[in-house]
Parts: sequence; structure tokens; C-alpha cells
Amino acid sequence: MKRKIASRKLKRSCDCCGCSFEKGETYYHKRNVMHFYDGRDEIIIGVNKTKCPKCHYRQQDSERRYEQFRQTCQHKKIEFIREVWDYIPGEAVMEPQYDVCHLCGNTL
Ligand SMILES: [Zn+2]
Ligand SMILES: [Zn+2]
Repeated sequence: MKRKIASRKLKRSCDCCGCSFEKGETYYHKRNVMHFYDGRDEIIIGVNKTKCPKCHYRQQDSERRYEQFRQTCQHKKIEFIREVWDYIPGEAVMEPQYDVCHLCGNTL
């Protein structure tokens, strides 16, 4: 996201907390362009993301905490654990072989 200074009172507000931006205030802005295909035409949609510094830092903070958690994972988050299936040697049948934690990447 790009850090910007409001050159005038902005019409848009923060996506997270809804606060508005007065002239001279700092805000963060990003334009995401998404491509869709409806089977006939390509549809391109641009989405503007706006965040106040408070929400911007809060998000960065949660990403950092996630990174820290990733490195010290003790597999407490069961939603990240996936069964890995593989073929039984010599047979065309699959069976669950082991579980992998997708948070830290380790085999259980
Ligand atoms: Zn906000
Ligand atoms: Zn883990």
C-alpha cells in the first residue's frame, strides 16, 4: 500500500473502521485490479483499498504475529493440518500417508 497525504477532504473513508480523512491527513491507498472471465468476455474490475494509518499498522502487526506463529508452530491450529494421500506402493489405490501442518510446513 502507498502512503499518501490527503490534498483535500477525501470522499472515501477507511475500509476497516470507516473514519474519514481531512485535508493533510495520512492515508494508505492501493488499487487492486481483478480479472474475471464469464465464458465470453473478460471482465476487469478495479477495487480501491483505503486504510487509515491505524488500521494499516494493525494489519501489518497481525501479519507479523502470523509469521512469528508460523515459525514456532506447535500444530495447535488444526485448520492448517491436512492429510496427505499417496498411492500404496504397487497398487493403484490411495491411502492417507501422513499429516502435514500447512502453517509451519512440518510433517506430524
Ligand atoms: Zn481505519
Ligand atoms: Zn505446525
